Order: sequence, then C-alpha cells, then structure tokens
Amino acid sequence: MSVTIVGGGLAGSEAAWQAASRGVAVTLHEMRPARPTAVHKTDRLAELVCSNSFRGDKLDNAVGLLKEEMRRLGSLVMRAAEDSRVPAGAALAVDRERFSETITRALAAHPLISIVRDEVVSIPASSERSPVIIATGPLTSDALASDIVALVGSSHLYFYDAISPIVLAETIDRSKVFRASRWGRSLRGAADAGGPACAVDDGEGDYLNCPLTRDEYERFHDALVTAESATIHDFDKERFFEGCLPIEVMARRGGDTLRFGPMKPVGLVDPRTGREPYAAVQLRQDNLAGDHFSLVGFQTQIKWGEQARVLRLIPGLEQAEFVRFGMVHRNTYVNGPTVLAETWQVRRRPTLFFAGQMSGVEGYVESAASGLLAGINAAALATGCPVSAPPRTTAIGALAYYASHADPAHYEPSNITFGIMQPLHNAPRGKRQRNLALSERALGDLQAWVDGRSAQSQRVPAVSQA
Ligand SMILES: Cc1cc2nc3c(=O)[nH]c(=O)nc-3n(C[C@H](O)[C@H](O)[C@H](O)COP(=O)(O)OP(=O)(O)OC[C@H]3O[C@@H](n4cnc5c(N)ncnc54)[C@H](O)[C@@H]3O)c2cc1C
Repeated sequence: MSVTIVGGGLAGSEAAWQAASRGVAVTLHEMRPARPTAVHKTDRLAELVCSNSFRGDKLDNAVGLLKEEMRRLGSLVMRAAEDSRVPAGAALAVDRERFSETITRALAAHPLISIVRDEVVSIPASSERSPVIIATGPLTSDALASDIVALVGSSHLYFYDAISPIVLAETIDRSKVFRASRWGRSLRGAADAGGPACAVDDGEGDYLNCPLTRDEYERFHDALVTAESATIHDFDKERFFEGCLPIEVMARRGGDTLRFGPMKPVGLVDPRTGREPYAAVQLRQDNLAGDHFSLVGFQTQIKWGEQARVLRLIPGLEQAEFVRFGMVHRNTYVNGPTVLAETWQVRRRPTLFFAGQMSGVEGYVESAASGLLAGINAAALATGCPVSAPPRTTAIGALAYYASHADPAHYEPSNITFGIMQPLHNAPRGKRQRNLALSERALGDLQAWVDGRSAQSQRVPAVSQA
C-alpha cells in the first residue's frame, strides 16, 4: 500500500505528512527545480509564492478556526508556521524561508516519504491500495493540465480566476436597492451553455439591484477608469480576456460599455420609479446563510483599497463592508461540485484525489487544509479504512462541502468564511459572540469526528505492508 502525490506545494506537502503519519508509504513528485513555474523562486517544498501571511489567528474569525482545527489534526504546515512565526498582530505571518525549509526537512527526514524531483506529465495509475493525489496548484504544468482536461472535460477545468467582490449583506443600504430578477424571470447561465463561468445575468433566483442615475453612473465610471490596478504576473492574458474582462478594462473601452455589460439595466424595473434605471449593479446571494452577496460580473484587478473607495460610489453600497475583494490571477482548478466528493475524491474515480488550489479552494491555509483531509482519506483508502469528511459545522468540513456541493454553474474557489458553515440555531447576539459560538461548536464536532474515525479504524482488520 502506498500513496502517490503529485505537487510538493502547501497541499501536497501536508497530504504527504498526513498519509505517512498513518503508516503509509508516500512518493511525492515535485517538478521544481528541474521545471520552474512563473512564480516559485526556490526548489523548496511548500514555498509561499506571494504574501507571508496565513491571515487571522483568532477563533472569532473563520480562518483562525480553520487553523486551530488543522493544529488539532496534526498539521505539519501549522507546526512549521508556528516554528517560523514573525510578529504580525492578530495574524499568523511567517519567515517564508524558514517555513518552507522546515517543511522540506521534515518531509525529507520522514522514513516513509520519498521525494522525487520530476514533472509528472499524465495522471498516474491509481488503485484502492495505491491512491493518487493531484496537488499541482494554480500553476499546474501544461502537459498534466491537458491530461486533467481529458479526465474532467474542458468545461470543468479553469485556467484563470476572475473573482468578483463580496459584500456583507447587513452593510447594504436596503432603502436604495430593490429585489428583482431580470425580466422577472430566471435566465439560465452562460456557463450551462458552454460559455465563460463568469458571465453576467446567469443563474436563477432573486438579485438585489443597485440602480444608478446618469450622474451616478458617470461618477462611478470616472472613478473606475482612473483607479490604480494591481499588477498581475505576466501570464497568458489572452485566454483570460476572451473569457471575462475586468470591469475597469471594459470601462476603458467606452462610456457605455458597462451599461451594455454587467451594469445593463434592461428588464430591471425599479418599483419606486416604475422605470428601468440608467444603469444597475446586480448583487447575488453568495452563501446559504444569505449574509454574503457578490457583485455579478464585477471581476476586477483594482487594488483593494481603491476597490473599496470606488465600489462605495454605487448607491446602496456606501457603507459596504467587503468580505472579499475582486481579483484576477492565473489559477488552474477543477469545477469542484461537478468533479469532486467532499472527501476530495474524484466522484467518477474514487482512487484519485484532488487537493489544494487545484481542487477549487482559495488561499494558503485552505489549500493546506484540503491537502490534510485528502492525505487522511488517501491513507484510509490504502489501509482499507472508511473515508469520510468532518461535518459541515467544522471549518474544514464546510470547505470540503462547499467545494463539492456549491452551485456548479457559478462555481468560484472560496476562502473559508463563517458564511459557508452550517448556521447556529440559537446564535448569540453580536457578530463576535456568534463567531466564537460557531468555533466552539466546530471544535467539539471535530473531536467527535476524530473519535468516530479512530473507533472505525480499530474495527478494520490490519492491512499488511505491500
Ligand atoms: C501569483 C499567486 C499569488 C498568490 N498569493 C497568495 C497569497 O498571498 N495568499 C494566499 O493565501 N494565497 C495566495 N495564492 C493562492 C494559493 O493559496 C497559493 O497558490 C498556494 O500555494 C496553493 O497551494 P497548492 O499546494 O495548491 O499549490 P502550490 O503551492 O503552487 O504547489 C503546487 C506544486 O506543484 C508543482 N507542480 C506543478 N505541476 C507539476 C507537475 N506536473 N509535476 C510535478 N510537480 C508539479 C509546483 O511546482 C508546485 O510546487 C496565490 C496564487 C498565485 C498564483
């Protein structure tokens, strides 16, 4: 029995550690340094490609909870992060060199882990006793990406991420927005028809609509075209731009381009005036709890500080609090809800797992968390034990559930947020108290899941080493 892992990034490194910690031999393939990527700079495993921050570290925020759950599940990434921690207030930030060096050494020193420095160009053969985890990240090499397309289908593997901003529902001024679907009916998505996943007006259901007068539209347009954009790495921009343009790029093409694109008002009658507004921004509910709304078709590269300033010019969003800003970056990822189960197994081929950014999550911590669960489950499969995911009341379980059950037509990789976790029935008043209560429940439920798994694995007869 053995586990093969392709990609020694955050997810692959964590998966290797988890599987080997359960007594399963692991072969970990990493293509660097023989074949570099556009953003990695070293040959170390788990290299942080950009910021050195793992974000918040308190239990009143969701990524803080996710980290605590990972610690309790014996995460190597979390242990290395603690060992290389640098002062960063309430956040967990690390000395990046020390962090990846700690991980590289720990994996190299593990007697059950072999590290092979080569590019894997096709998905390796897998079986129940020898499962495979693909954790090749946002910059998966082209040859392997082609083979993944052959497995999942070209419409279920994306190469760019164009993420629209998300606002907290309670910060939207409801006196200025109105609820309606265009033409009073749902329009099925362009994604369903084989179009780009980030098309506007797709999906059914209600929208909150922010109406703009001509003056408001022109003021917003002027602010948009003069706002400062973040630089993106020199990726193959053509493929991105054909799919879904950032709003500021559309705005620069002409004064009316947005009014015929994501801000088109046709079919949206403002009940207060009885007329279509000059322009409109649509907000779509983004999570089950209904406390997050995304701005439809508003993918953007504008710097985050500037985004807040410009987007608050939209009527109804003057006081908006942003849960996530818009972004554009190279990202190879599968359409999780179509391809994956919540154990991170490929539905149609359960001996194959996807983990990390490739599996449709967003962020260092989330990538490592999916690798952690994929590693636990691949080891379980190899040793003849049942596979499972923690409940949706935990952050790690909610992330797995989101990636495998969100609406496939609008799928976007997500950071962990309390909004994707199962809500509390009798939530305390106040955001911080509510979040702390969610965390307390999560940690209790995680422990129950761990206890249940160890009871199950004791009932499974021991598997002899292959
Ligand atoms: C430019 C950029 C900046 C980002 N900045 C941040 C940030 O600041 N904060 C944040 O939280 N998230 C950030 N992310 C998102 C994401 O969290 C990171 O990309 C994270 O590293 C993903 O972890 P991973 O393990 O999935 O992939 P990676 O860490 O990229 O690991 C994948 C590994 O697989 C290897 N590989 C690829 N193809 C093959 C192959 N065919 N054979 C063998 N090996 C292969 C690669 O060399 C790499 O080492 C960023 C992403 C990008 C692209």
